[in-house]
Amino acid sequence: MSRLLANWIGGKDVPSTGSTSVPVFNPSTGEILASTPLSTAEDVSLAVTAAREAFPTWSATPVPRRATILFAYKSLLETHFEELARLLVRENGKTFAEAQGDVRRGIEVVEFACGITHLLKGETLPQLAGGMDGATSLEPIGVCAGITPFNFPAMVPMWMFPLAIACGNTFILKPSEKVPLTAIRLAECFAEAGLPGGVFNLVHGGREVVDALCTHPGIASVSFVGSSAVAKHVYTLGTAHGKRVQAAGGAKNVLLVLPDAEPDSTLRAILGAAYGCAGQRCMAGSIVMGVGEAANAVRDRIGGAIDRMKLLRTDEHDDSDMGPVIDGAARERLFAVIDSAEKEGAKIVRDGRRTLPEAGFFVGPTLLDEVGMGMKVARTELFGPVLSLARPGSLEEAISWINTSGYGNGAVIFTSSGGAARQFVRDVQCGMIGVNVGVPAPMSIFAFSGWNDSFYGDLHVQGMEGIKFYTRQKVVFTRWDNAYVRSQGW
Ligand code: NAD
Repeated sequence: MSRLLANWIGGKDVPSTGSTSVPVFNPSTGEILASTPLSTAEDVSLAVTAAREAFPTWSATPVPRRATILFAYKSLLETHFEELARLLVRENGKTFAEAQGDVRRGIEVVEFACGITHLLKGETLPQLAGGMDGATSLEPIGVCAGITPFNFPAMVPMWMFPLAIACGNTFILKPSEKVPLTAIRLAECFAEAGLPGGVFNLVHGGREVVDALCTHPGIASVSFVGSSAVAKHVYTLGTAHGKRVQAAGGAKNVLLVLPDAEPDSTLRAILGAAYGCAGQRCMAGSIVMGVGEAANAVRDRIGGAIDRMKLLRTDEHDDSDMGPVIDGAARERLFAVIDSAEKEGAKIVRDGRRTLPEAGFFVGPTLLDEVGMGMKVARTELFGPVLSLARPGSLEEAISWINTSGYGNGAVIFTSSGGAARQFVRDVQCGMIGVNVGVPAPMSIFAFSGWNDSFYGDLHVQGMEGIKFYTRQKVVFTRWDNAYVRSQGW
């Protein structure tokens, strides 16, 4: 029997009231590491009660004191950096280097939140009218909730809770049921750093927990990251229940290569974007477009690079070039995607269904050529190591193809022409653009700016938009009577 995980409520383990659970796999082997309870609306209510009880004291805690706890948290995360990354490898399957990146990007949000004394400052305008001063302050909003996907077990939760908590809110996280272990260690470390009980809580589970978070009257906001269908559901349900919601969804990102692109750095960037994290990134490059002679060169060089890639179990081999996908269902879905692309007329240049490690949920790096933009494989988010090559006739045609996608997370151009790059940046309709950068994912200081079906809401996660999302503004006008005010007739 695998270990049944507990929720983390009020600073301690609290058993879930749910009667069912789902396995947490080691994707490199298929071994079951633990069981995630599918908690209930009752568990959510318990967490809301704890978070609401903690709110008055935490929101009144002097901001520098909150910052001190965040600095202690950052320091503890550094101490446990390797342990966290290894745990993440075990439950998610990504390589050790990728897991280190996952934890590092999350720690950077904590570093950003350490500056909360500066970030939370309002504005003032003395003498805005005779004898009257105006000032704004950013006030916490209450109990905030976060719902996160499996693909970044450390970074994505940390896009949310460090900022919300730094702003004086309390928080309930529902991590992905597929990767709950990293989230548990993040919560334990925060408590060890001095965070009072009830400020940060974890409720494990699936849809019942999500719906309870979106509808509970004691919750002020919901931050969601995951697939677009669920993002839309969370946005619709949460806003209908009076909450502010930021819901980041899926993507179908294009990498466009012009004939004048620098070949070596472009190849490295494409490989990283398409096959990094086994393609399980919302910023993954899913379609590479080669204009003119760039197309054949890209096909041949990527094919050659794939032949040199090693697929090893990532929990034992730090030198694996790529890990498995998250579970058996994902692997079967991706095999079916390759089958159906072949039936639609795509040409298989490298086939990820072949020569795989015996155990675990591996899909090999796959390259498809002659992919038309009308094909299903070109229109659906694949979320795996399957890259499609398409051949537009010009930069303009490539941009118009990109703009037919319903999604709007990222698009990238590789070129040595400033004019072409500028046209791409101006005309592509999506939130994050890379120029000779394979994965234009923002760091903690910028918001993660998805557009179209890649985002539902207004204020995005991270950066100053994150601070605004987790606060509401108070505007104060002040007039004090004194001799000078009277002398002026104010
Ligand atoms: P998912 O949508 O299946 O799950 C995300 C969260 O929603 C999980 O916590 C899950 O328990 C919950 N959930 C799943 N189905 C639900 C339902 N029917 N009702 C209510 N809640 C439900 O996503 P995933 O497979 O964990 O992650 C992959 C997806 O996340 C991809 O689409 C990827 O592009 C996206 N993603 C987006 C970003 C971004 O910043 N835009 C970042 C990372 C991942």
